Amino acid sequence: MAGIYVHIPFCRQKCRYCDFTSFPDKLGFAESYMTCVYHEMAMRQEELKDYVFDTLYIGGGTPSIIDESYIAMLVAAAKKYFKLSDNAEITIEMNPGTVSKEKIELYKKVGINRFSVGLQTAIDSQLEELGRCHTLNQFVTCAKYLSGENFSVDIMIGLKGQTKDDISKSIQVASSFGASHISMYALTPEDGTPIYSDYLNGELPDGDEVASMYDFGVQKLKELGFERYEVSNFCKRGKESRHNLNYWNRGEYIGFGVSASSHIKDVRFTNTFDLDEYFKCVMTNHFPVVNSEKVERQGAMEESIMLAMRTAKGLNLAKFEKSFNCNFRTEYAAALEKNAEFLEEVEGFLRIKPEYLYVQNSIICDFFNE
Ligand code: SF4
Repeated sequence: MAGIYVHIPFCRQKCRYCDFTSFPDKLGFAESYMTCVYHEMAMRQEELKDYVFDTLYIGGGTPSIIDESYIAMLVAAAKKYFKLSDNAEITIEMNPGTVSKEKIELYKKVGINRFSVGLQTAIDSQLEELGRCHTLNQFVTCAKYLSGENFSVDIMIGLKGQTKDDISKSIQVASSFGASHISMYALTPEDGTPIYSDYLNGELPDGDEVASMYDFGVQKLKELGFERYEVSNFCKRGKESRHNLNYWNRGEYIGFGVSASSHIKDVRFTNTFDLDEYFKCVMTNHFPVVNSEKVERQGAMEESIMLAMRTAKGLNLAKFEKSFNCNFRTEYAAALEKNAEFLEEVEGFLRIKPEYLYVQNSIICDFFNE
């Protein structure tokens, strides 16, 4: 299985917590940018001619902010330059403040069959505090446009002044309007973002409070029929994100656009984060790649463990041993012994027990020190 990712780096305004590659003041470059993305795809056509892609993910930034005709041309370009499987999952990320009924109708018409909507919280004052450019009402309107569609909602935990009731309301709203998938993330105050000052001033909930609120959210999701299939991802049966599952299975994917990363034939590479450099490279028929690294055996083993142990299912031991020609239990005897109480083996998969999934980092680290 392989996937395609396309990064659309434009946003209406910069959210206070955002450290993604997104430009709030450059929407005027959308047409030139998309022309470059189509061209970058054409440049990779020959190299990827033997691949069949099962997913196309249009992320950002805010893909829904640009004119929908560019998105239609993007899907057409992906189908023109690459083989997309007949039932490919095609996802677009949307900000509820930037959608219209017509936009969504066109998305559906061109084959987009999955939608990822950034709600974050159902409390308007918290949306404003985060610097989001939408309200709860706009989310509700967007969700009504998506009625009957396969859509996911993002929710954040650890906001200033957030209570368990607020979390309950956010989850309830997403669920009652038909979301089949919910990504629930703990806010990470990154150095350099405005929200980092709130963190330094002690205005955000501390780690224990966030963990307690997260557990509360997990319970609420469970009550509403959402199964956890990855540390931060929950869905109704059969509604997992195929695109993200491919990442966690250490599958191959190709990324287009500024800052997009790729994993093809055991090489990981990343495009430039600089918009001008991206334009210059693509317009002169050069790949805009700034980092490229061949993943050797040891690195590939560590990646496989790190990614798979984020999932509720865990690591497929037989597949791992076959891929790396080793005995897992011998290779990782010390880490297995040290973490015995946190781990379990179920039907040939080694996984972190569900109640410890939230603290998986420290467990996984022990496998890197073998
Ligand atoms: S909408 Fe997303 S990408 Fe854009 S500024 Fe906000 S968090 Fe960043």
